[in-house]
Amino acid sequence: MNVTLPDGKVLELDSEATGADAALAIGPGLAKAALAITVNGEIRDLSRELPDGATISIITEKSDEALDLIRHDAAHVLATAVIDLFPGTKVSIGPAIENGFYYDFEFPDGVTLSEDDLPRIEERMKVHVKAAEPFERSELSVEDALVRFRELGEDYKVELIEDLITNEGAQTVSLYRNGDFVDLCRGPHAPATGRIKAFALQSVAGAYWRGDSTRTMLTRIYGTAFLSRKDLEEHLELLEQAKARDHRKLGRELGLFRFSEVSPGSAFWLPKGTKLFNELVSLSREMGEPRGYQEVKTPQLYDAELWRLSGHWDKYRENMFLTESEDHQMGLKPMNCPGHAHLFGAQQWSYRDLPVRYSEPGLLHRNEPSGTLHGLLRVRHFCQDDAHIFCTDEQIQDEVAACLEFAFATYRLFGLEPKLELSTRPEQRLGDDELWDRAEAALSSALDSGGHEYVVNEGDGAFYGPKIDLHITDSLGRSWQLGTVQLDYSMPERFDLSYAGADNADHRPVMIHRALMGSYERFIGILIEHYAGALPFWLAPVQVQVLPVADRHSPFAEEVAAELRAGGLSVEADTRSESIGRRIREAELAKTPVMLIVGDREVESGEVSVRERGSGDEGAETVAGLLERLNQRVQDRTA
Ligand SMILES: [Zn+2]
Ligand SMILES: [Zn+2]
Repeated sequence: MNVTLPDGKVLELDSEATGADAALAIGPGLAKAALAITVNGEIRDLSRELPDGATISIITEKSDEALDLIRHDAAHVLATAVIDLFPGTKVSIGPAIENGFYYDFEFPDGVTLSEDDLPRIEERMKVHVKAAEPFERSELSVEDALVRFRELGEDYKVELIEDLITNEGAQTVSLYRNGDFVDLCRGPHAPATGRIKAFALQSVAGAYWRGDSTRTMLTRIYGTAFLSRKDLEEHLELLEQAKARDHRKLGRELGLFRFSEVSPGSAFWLPKGTKLFNELVSLSREMGEPRGYQEVKTPQLYDAELWRLSGHWDKYRENMFLTESEDHQMGLKPMNCPGHAHLFGAQQWSYRDLPVRYSEPGLLHRNEPSGTLHGLLRVRHFCQDDAHIFCTDEQIQDEVAACLEFAFATYRLFGLEPKLELSTRPEQRLGDDELWDRAEAALSSALDSGGHEYVVNEGDGAFYGPKIDLHITDSLGRSWQLGTVQLDYSMPERFDLSYAGADNADHRPVMIHRALMGSYERFIGILIEHYAGALPFWLAPVQVQVLPVADRHSPFAEEVAAELRAGGLSVEADTRSESIGRRIREAELAKTPVMLIVGDREVESGEVSVRERGSGDEGAETVAGLLERLNQRVQDRTA
């Protein structure tokens, strides 16, 4: 029989040859390195027979698929170890996930697992990995499989098989054995447990069976696995760093914000945090004005009538906070768009007036489930750097290009390089193909004209129009979606928006929704983690800390602070009677960018000794000279 290799070469094999045979025929090195095989695009075990005429490629440790494969292997080994140590445990499912794997168990009565048990389970897993137990696949009729798992009391597996029969008409299922453990599993797996080169168990959590809160609460064990010890250590190190940078922890330590049970998912901003927040809002205003944005203020609370018109009543009501007034149902806005569309519609427009660009850092509320709330990253109460552009079809390309320029200029200030994604027409959509052709062409021309590289996500657009999403990678290599630029043909239709064209006839404008930072809350959370709390000088809530060496230097310290404050900087003088060493250390912990030390010499000369965060002593400088230099840094928005 013949199979085709990725380079197009045809390989001749004996009939009934397996993936492992194919790897060996290509070369003994590859046979050793092989983990699995892709057969006509599907990943399979090496031990399975190949169909004649298949296109194959061997998966090795270098392949993208390798990590998922050994992580799934590791999940089986985890279950093996758990059953060894806690006989009578019922297993459910154990997939590979981003960055690792988990397995959900129901422990026997009386056993409560804690993270203290993880080292013991890891030790047991090591025994199975060291034994390099082969993963053996077998197929069984669904009837036999049901008998088998019923006998074992594995209720979850029984339910899974019953569902496979009902939903997929399955007649057979596959089982995988490693050592004494046999799991119902689609596979594929690497040839043996020994291929897991490094792993760690990380945490224990509760998880409802099938994510259904009316079903049993199972115990989920999370872990991760890598192809080398070095990769695992790097990953764990990164997790440590991320933990140290957690914005919830830093937000508390730096005195920026708090959360309270009295208003879940809503930050209480302390004075320093409010300063930071306002600085970003000013940045949006300052950058938006020369780009033709006009700020508006629209209401918080709207009659249900408006939400019916916008479509939110049908599609989004359960995420809204609703209330009543004089027998009218009302809703707090989860988005600014309907208010802006209403505002635009309240006036006559000529084509000469367009584009109209309304911006509004409006307060929004979304009723997110309490279980999904996460610090500033997932909140119920927030504010976006939101804007809506009303323009003609011909203006779309230039407007979108201008939004991208605005986004790049914003991200550059934080040293962030965006990656762009264009999402095109989904199956379910509004408007004819001709409209979508034009809209998608306008977006791709805007991307091309800016010289931007981008990925196309076919079919991922909103039902009302295509969009461009902007993703950034932070200093820990994590990716975040920040900005979005979306075309919308639906809302202008629903609100019956129009403008008088050059032909004097009424035309429908198109609406562009755009946010660049996203919500200020989430963006601040991301920035805190990106900078590990050490915000750049222009953004730091306390830019300068003046530290008198002794009490007698305090008046001069206050004088210096007042002069810098009058010059527009945010300055504190720490005149407490703590030792100078201790106050310097505290200013460092507070990540203050500039410290000024004043002692006898400084009082005498009228100068200050400058200490920069990160680089240490910078020598003496006059207050006037320092003020000019620091204000330049604010103006240039540099670190
Ligand atoms: Zn499995
Ligand atoms: Zn919008």
